[in-house]
Amino acid sequence: MYDLVDNLADLTALRDRDALDVALANTISDLLLPLCASICRAVGDQGNERWRISAQIQAGTSGVFSDAAWMPFDQLPLLAKFPMRQLAISGQIQESDDGQHIVVFPLGGTPGNTGVLEIRLDAPLSAQRRDLVSGILRLYRNFSALLDYGERDSLTDLLNRKTFDGAFLRATLEQKNGSAEDNSHRQQERRDTEAYATYWLAMIDIDHFKRVNDNFGHLIGDEVLLLLARLMRAHFRFNDQIYRFGGEEFVALVRCHSEAEASALLDRLRITTQNHVFPQVGSITLSIGFSEVRAGDSPSAAIERADKAVYYAKEHGRNQVCSYGSLVSNGGLVEPTTNVGDVELF
Ligand code: GH3
Ligand code: MG
Ligand code: MG
Repeated sequence: MYDLVDNLADLTALRDRDALDVALANTISDLLLPLCASICRAVGDQGNERWRISAQIQAGTSGVFSDAAWMPFDQLPLLAKFPMRQLAISGQIQESDDGQHIVVFPLGGTPGNTGVLEIRLDAPLSAQRRDLVSGILRLYRNFSALLDYGERDSLTDLLNRKTFDGAFLRATLEQKNGSAEDNSHRQQERRDTEAYATYWLAMIDIDHFKRVNDNFGHLIGDEVLLLLARLMRAHFRFNDQIYRFGGEEFVALVRCHSEAEASALLDRLRITTQNHVFPQVGSITLSIGFSEVRAGDSPSAAIERADKAVYYAKEHGRNQVCSYGSLVSNGGLVEPTTNVGDVELF
């Protein structure tokens, strides 16, 4: 019992979702000693979701397996491949009737952020233990909802600025360590296709948004922000991260193989937005600046580069996507040299 309380204390000390899922898998493993305990999340657009394993512990193996955050979407299994998990997602605990002793519990959550806990045992799960697991999951759900409340913007439900620095540093660390630490077969496959993908940071700013407020009122302005957030969620991939940074400014952290790929992805968002008819307001346009995330980058340095590229876009006609790297190469922007000076001081 003390171990369980310890485990629960560890679980509720965490702020990182993947680490929280690892702690939950550990708690369940310590408690039930199952053959396998997995936390699986349904990711992707509604109606076209796939399973991503965020934490899996197998008896007789050490460590915790998880699908890499940047796993290509089409390499993840479709929801229908795991019918028990699929049924559990709608809220009912599922139990196998073929003697395999698999029990799947719903994790709850908001649409687009749901999941299940799947436990494979070598004997049936007693009613008492089942109730204990349900109780732990209630605690997990309440704690997740609390985290959501602190991490998400209440208007758009996008991540808020507070969470950006941590996610940025984790992403850059993952990028640096990824290939050294991965050794599973699935991750080897991922390495073959994703080897050269790096993180890119985009700053997305609505053009002349003040006019929307001035002409149609603040409430309609808010509706535009909400609808644009939906457009962005549908446009980017499940593992891209989208933040509302300030009033009408958004930031996206995406993985791409090249500047051209990042530029095309962002330009498609620009065109989709321009073509969208917002109720009453009609069309709005976006200015977007982006930069590759560099080795040893700080969140503020990367934001500053993307910001300069947005500023350039604004100064040169708006409704366009500008790359910081290209602007520096073609002389449109000058890379500051202050860092070089700093280094010389030492
Ligand atoms: P630019 O093309 O140069 O970006 O022009 P802009 O009008 O979009 O930019 P500016 O920074 O001058 O104004 C941003 C406006 O965004 C100011 C404010 O009226 C509006 N705004 C900021 N936060 C919110 C919000 O939460 N809701 C609404 N409705 N409007 C907001
Ligand atoms: Mg603006
Ligand atoms: Mg702005």
